[in-house]
Amino acid sequence: MARLYGKVALVTGAGAMNGGMGNGKATAIRLAQEGATICALDLHLPAAEETCEIIRADGGKAIALSADVTHEDQVKQAVADCLSALGQIDILQNNVGILKTGGAMDSTVEDWDALVHVNMKAVFLPTKHVLPHFVDRGAGVVTNISSIAGLRYLGTPYIGYNATKGSIISYTRNLAAEVAPHGIRANAILPGFIDTPMARDITVQNSEDPGAIDWDALDRQRAARIPLGRVGTPWDVANAAVFLASDEASYITGTEITVDGGVSCRV
Ligand code: NAP
Repeated sequence: MARLYGKVALVTGAGAMNGGMGNGKATAIRLAQEGATICALDLHLPAAEETCEIIRADGGKAIALSADVTHEDQVKQAVADCLSALGQIDILQNNVGILKTGGAMDSTVEDWDALVHVNMKAVFLPTKHVLPHFVDRGAGVVTNISSIAGLRYLGTPYIGYNATKGSIISYTRNLAAEVAPHGIRANAILPGFIDTPMARDITVQNSEDPGAIDWDALDRQRAARIPLGRVGTPWDVANAAVFLASDEASYITGTEITVDGGVSCRV
């Protein structure tokens, strides 16, 4: 029996740039493979639709929604649309996040505000509007995507990103304590270096000559920093999300799963 048969999962940021594979997209696909019906939400409807097409081609069920998770009215509407189309929500996967380079002195106020605005609201707003439904049902699972960058400096100045990702850990622990009496669990996943469109995009942005980037050489350099010897894939993150959403994790709440090949043990 599929582990998530009969469940409905709302996954935010379930699309990915340029038809690539991101953490949210892979998670939506893996949750569906385990029997969940997926509500794939993304800023761009075609990106969410593409994820749904992959799920349907694999025999799963999915609907696509477009919303900006930083706009409360859009989030409220998306939750209402998901409930009216699918009848229930059992799993909320808050995956949206943005990344901007910058240290304590050179980060701009605009970048700082954008990071706080998107990365914090991306967990706060969907959770706020799905929770009343979870409370009514006396059950539900929230999984927030943080990062090992939320724990420590990893060698590149991403101070605003790292601070917001650290905040997600704190938010998740507080949330877990508050909602546990309602039968609701909340945990965070802390990915390490994962090969996604967003990770490639920031490499391009930071490069003086993007056309000259040797992706294979970069991959080897990154892999050399990782105890398990390889860069992570979105499927590594997705598999942790499946576990946390499943009943196998029914006694796990208010904690973090690091998915980083051991990086955070060594830096
Ligand atoms: P991604 O490839 O950019 O996928 C995220 C998706 O979310 C994109 O389709 C994006 O649309 C969408 N999105 C962005 N802002 C949104 C908004 N306001 N409302 C709705 N959808 C929005 O990203 P990813 O690399 O898979 O990262 C996903 C999560 O993992 C992020 O929280 C990130 O911080 C975290 N993470 C990633 C890594 C890594 O190495 N990749 C490591 C640690 C943590 P657009 O493409 O149009 O922006």
